[in-house]
Amino acid sequence: MDPRESYDRVFELLREHHSWFDSSIPLIASENVTSPAVREALISDFEHRYAEGWVGERVYAGCRYIDEVERVAMDLAKDLFRADHADVRPISGVVANLAVYTAFTKPGDVMMALPITKGGHISAGPLYGSKGNRIGGTAGAVHGLDVKYMAFDDEEFNIDVDRTLKRMEKYRPKLLMFGASEILFPQPVREIADEAHAMGAVVNYDAAHVAGLIAAGRFQDPLREGADTMTASTHKTLPGPQHGMVLTNDGEKFELIKQACFPGLLSNHHPNAVAALAVALAELKAFGRDYADQIIRNAKALAEALYNAGFKVLGERRGFTESHQVIFDVADIGGGMWAEKALEEANIIVNRNLLPYDIKRGRHFRDPGGIRLGTLEVTRLGMRESEMEEIASFFKRVLLDREEPSRVAADVREFRRRFRHVHYCFDCPAEAYAYRRLRG
Ligand SMILES: *Cc1c(COP(=O)(O)O)cnc(C)c1O
Repeated sequence: MDPRESYDRVFELLREHHSWFDSSIPLIASENVTSPAVREALISDFEHRYAEGWVGERVYAGCRYIDEVERVAMDLAKDLFRADHADVRPISGVVANLAVYTAFTKPGDVMMALPITKGGHISAGPLYGSKGNRIGGTAGAVHGLDVKYMAFDDEEFNIDVDRTLKRMEKYRPKLLMFGASEILFPQPVREIADEAHAMGAVVNYDAAHVAGLIAAGRFQDPLREGADTMTASTHKTLPGPQHGMVLTNDGEKFELIKQACFPGLLSNHHPNAVAALAVALAELKAFGRDYADQIIRNAKALAEALYNAGFKVLGERRGFTESHQVIFDVADIGGGMWAEKALEEANIIVNRNLLPYDIKRGRHFRDPGGIRLGTLEVTRLGMRESEMEEIASFFKRVLLDREEPSRVAADVREFRRRFRHVHYCFDCPAEAYAYRRLRG
């Protein structure tokens, strides 16, 4: 292809993507849409710069303003998460977790985490599965950790404390990894952390999904419940740029984290993303409580509406959810693969997910039995409980009534016209998915 054709094609595709998301219902639990202010920071000149090292001790010149902005980001992070120390340099949640592995463990050490089949993230996964199959999870493949699993109660959709404590006696872990990618309820950190510390283990809480809810005081508070460190992505319920961070109240552990980040894992730490994070944290401090409250109310409303429409929603015994997530079982009505595709045809963007009992029932991650939803992005767009009922009725039409998805898509487009702007920010003039042209 002619270079000019490729060049033009990229912009054409970007515009098509924007226009698609502008007329869709975005329900991926790990995605959010940033404010215009966050995007302005992202495309600033900071994106061309290096700032290796720690604030005030950089190895390059030219960091005068970058340092000041990074201080603002750290101060806001410490304030919001009530932590004495924050490293805002990790360029993603996975890199933040790697910083924890590097700081506190050696290859061969045992780490305990949730398996991917029970909501755990691949960054806490082993190199090999129990049948010798190669999984290639970050903890095992990159840092050589021997990953053992916490026990999980499928019914309660949470970590099983008694069985996990027994496994800890057996495996003597050096690191415990709380947090998950499928997380409906606060985890029993308090119940397990003392035992972990007694055997000399470090406790980390991976708040990639729930960081925004934690900052708002609307989920659990891991650093008060016994976690030594907390890692996070900054772009899920915390509606910032794609980036990561590590927080702790322990000064000695923080020195190890800093060193793991630089020179260990980072050269460039994306100063533009740090500026965007500072902006997002300021917005979160101002509007985070209202935002988190509405996210959780919407998740409960969506779960209940789906349940009333006839779907098998998980967590029924505990009110379905205390987070931004809703998980439901589609194994008997076509499977996760089919459901995800049919919904996408209807302009409803979701992801298929393994349910805790899928493997036992012979299902596979390619066609799992579940669909996971998050109400974080639709809440950002200003939707409330009554809109969750409308969304549940779209799900019913596509998945239960088997209506032609393209017909539902037309109604979804119409529905979305009412929700065009990002909420919970200081300056929200631009449309949420407006494409901004800089080329002239
Ligand atoms: C999303 C996620 C991550 C990875 O974060 P990235 O920022 O994508 O690297 C880590 N841990 C958990 C539990 C997650 O859900």
